[in-house]
Amino acid sequence: MPASLLETPVGDVQVEVEARPRSEKGLNVGRVVTALLVGGPLVGLILFIVFGWGGPVTVWAAVLALGFYLLTGLGVTVGFHRLFAHHSFRANRALKVILAVTGSMAMEGSVIGWVAVHRRHHVFSDQPGDPHSPWGRGDGAWGTARGFLWAHVGWLFAGAPTDAKRFAPELRRDRDLVVVDRLFPVLAVVSLAAPFGIGYAITGTLAGAFVFFLWAGLIRMALLHHVTWSINSICHIWGRRPFVTGDQSTNVAPLALVSFGESWHNFHHAAPASARHGVLAHQFDLSAEVIRVFERVGWATKVRWPTSASIAALMVPVPVGSI
Ligand SMILES: [Zn+2]
Ligand SMILES: [Zn+2]
Repeated sequence: MPASLLETPVGDVQVEVEARPRSEKGLNVGRVVTALLVGGPLVGLILFIVFGWGGPVTVWAAVLALGFYLLTGLGVTVGFHRLFAHHSFRANRALKVILAVTGSMAMEGSVIGWVAVHRRHHVFSDQPGDPHSPWGRGDGAWGTARGFLWAHVGWLFAGAPTDAKRFAPELRRDRDLVVVDRLFPVLAVVSLAAPFGIGYAITGTLAGAFVFFLWAGLIRMALLHHVTWSINSICHIWGRRPFVTGDQSTNVAPLALVSFGESWHNFHHAAPASARHGVLAHQFDLSAEVIRVFERVGWATKVRWPTSASIAALMVPVPVGSI
């Protein structure tokens, strides 16, 4: 196994992350915004059902929602995750900025903050210090349910803060990324306002604009959020573990399409810097295919593709008697 597929670029990983002091656990602006982003789409959906807007406008809004889902989702999977968090490839400057911007528009946090939290997850995976492990929340079905809820959304509200200085030091020295990181609130507003504007341009009515805002803004954002959070929750509880890792990460086939290949999470933990996560037969990985296109047109270089030998070396050994 080449060492390059195993690297996770972090600073001093030996220092344990301190729990947030109790006094900081009150209400703050960040938590209110998080609550609005988590609960807002549900309110929007209820409004939609109550008022019953529909017809051709909804179909076009759904098409735009799919476009925004692809754009912002790939910004997270190809950009935030495989490029910035794991350095699975090198991107030219334009691609780097585009991925940082589109990933920010997914509203999962600013690029440097997102990367810091994710690297901390790899360093302490399913151990104390992991920001969103579902494990260690009690035994039996109740413990699993509590763990699932914590890994899915609970950690967003009550988790200990992550020090970006320690976990993403090189990104804080990249001027382009620092600018995009600071622009996160603006990009989040743009991500919701753009569907409204496009909807108004197409329909010429505020009601039509609202339908676009609801589907291509709020509901699109919520779907991507829950898919991303499912990688933290479902893909650390249920699924297959064909690869050797020191954690509970799993491969979950039903989530592969909507997560753009991120649910091949067991291999990802076995070889974090690999540009491809779906490495076994019939494992579709849209993010890897997109990186391959970027490589072909020369925007991505030094792509860390896994070899068959490196994949085989990471598999759980089959007991001799079972062959
Ligand atoms: Zn994981
Ligand atoms: Zn990762």
